Amino acid sequence: MIKENIAEIRRRMDAAARKAGRDPGEILLCAATKMNDADRVREAIAAGVDCCGENRVQELVQKSALHAYDGKPVHFIGHLQTNKVRQVVGKVDLIQSVDRVELLACIEKEAARQDLIQDILLEINIGAEESKSGFTPEEAKAVAAAMDRYPHCRLRGLMAIPPISEKSGSNCRFFEEIQRIAVDITTKNPHNSSMEVLSMGMTDDFEDAIACGSTMIRVGTAIFGARHYQ
Ligand SMILES: *Cc1c(COP(=O)(O)O)cnc(C)c1O
Repeated sequence: MIKENIAEIRRRMDAAARKAGRDPGEILLCAATKMNDADRVREAIAAGVDCCGENRVQELVQKSALHAYDGKPVHFIGHLQTNKVRQVVGKVDLIQSVDRVELLACIEKEAARQDLIQDILLEINIGAEESKSGFTPEEAKAVAAAMDRYPHCRLRGLMAIPPISEKSGSNCRFFEEIQRIAVDITTKNPHNSSMEVLSMGMTDDFEDAIACGSTMIRVGTAIFGARHYQ
């Protein structure tokens, strides 16, 4: 099932990229692996996802110990508490969900302690939703302009989770805005930054995200099926 699902997503990614006049090779598929065990993660990797994204530190630690992600990069994509930063910095290739200055400062401190450079994305609360964390566009631009304060972090781009897509096309304006923010930041050429990653688009809206410049979609349900929360 996982293998067939991924093949179908790849087909849809290719079609969406071509329709937008883009090279399908420039868009990565990140498997959102929350609530899926190590064997299912391995199945997704074998079927050709480009990377895995974990939401919870506990799952990341457990599946890492089982070598679930071997062969592909693993990213952190969930809300990260500062007291868990130690378990994530240096353990993942990219922290996509840097959503507040306090967290960035904490990541910087831990990366300096470990003497490494941690790749990060800034998460934008693009729908200005009460229920979601993330920077406003203005805050994100200010943080990017101050990246020289965080020499052990490298800003690689932006991540966004827009409101649930009501109908096809409804999130395009959010994706377009993320793209504009990234261009804006790039123009200012901030320290230790290269804004090539635009992580946006999930099961319900990834084709729209690709039409609007996404370079990485994060897909859970369409790969693994519905999650059953207890
Ligand atoms: C779960 C999750 C996804 C994937 O969501 P689906 O709708 O199941 O594809 C993407 N990004 C983040 C941050 C997530 O937590």
